[in-house]
Amino acid sequence: MNFVFIGKPFAGKGTYAQYLKEVFDLVQISTGDVLREVSELDSELGKQVKDTINKGDLVNDELISKILQEKLSKITKGVILDGYPRNIEQAKTLESFFKIDYVIYFNPLNKTIIDRITKRRTCSNCGRIFHTVNIIPRVQGICDYCNGKLSIRKDNNIEAIQKRLDLFDQKTSSLINFYREKGILKTFDDNRPFLELKEDLRIFFENLINNKQ
Ligand code: AMP
Repeated sequence: MNFVFIGKPFAGKGTYAQYLKEVFDLVQISTGDVLREVSELDSELGKQVKDTINKGDLVNDELISKILQEKLSKITKGVILDGYPRNIEQAKTLESFFKIDYVIYFNPLNKTIIDRITKRRTCSNCGRIFHTVNIIPRVQGICDYCNGKLSIRKDNNIEAIQKRLDLFDQKTSSLINFYREKGILKTFDDNRPFLELKEDLRIFFENLINNKQ
């Protein structure tokens, strides 16, 4: 089964996807991570993507859709797409080459988002997400999985975050109705303790996957 995770920046999509892929043997594709890798390339494309991400803008649809299609063509397991689609055009493109079974929508309030912004730490090497209260690394400042250095992401400055929140309202939020009308949207209340939502998601995924077998 294939899933799309939708939610405002800092909704926790990546963190929950990271957990669920391990429990249910799925593949997580975060287009943000994919593009951050591209942004490290020493090329004109790398520079352009870096600049776009740091400003909080969206990378052009054609480029990200092409990169994603190529990645998906090599995968044989169920997939969680985190960060794509970001607008109706991308959703329509995705439909043309990939079947989505469920869209999981996380709906944090602004105060939940602010709390996450200040407490999130990301591994600069493997991209894993930690939190100074909810997901504490074994050694402060060091990734549990690869010993990479944990840091606050570069695009976590106030202007870039505001732009990403505005872009969500202007473009991504229209996806909620798009998928609701298709009958595949499932909303999860995101304004509660991390462990509680994590368990709800686990139960939801377990029921879905068991019923399918
Ligand atoms: P994220 O980690 O999902 O918050 O993504 C970080 C940044 O990568 C975004 O602010 C965009 O600049 C870019 N990005 C990620 N996914 C997409 C997408 N589907 N379309 C366009 N740009 C994207």
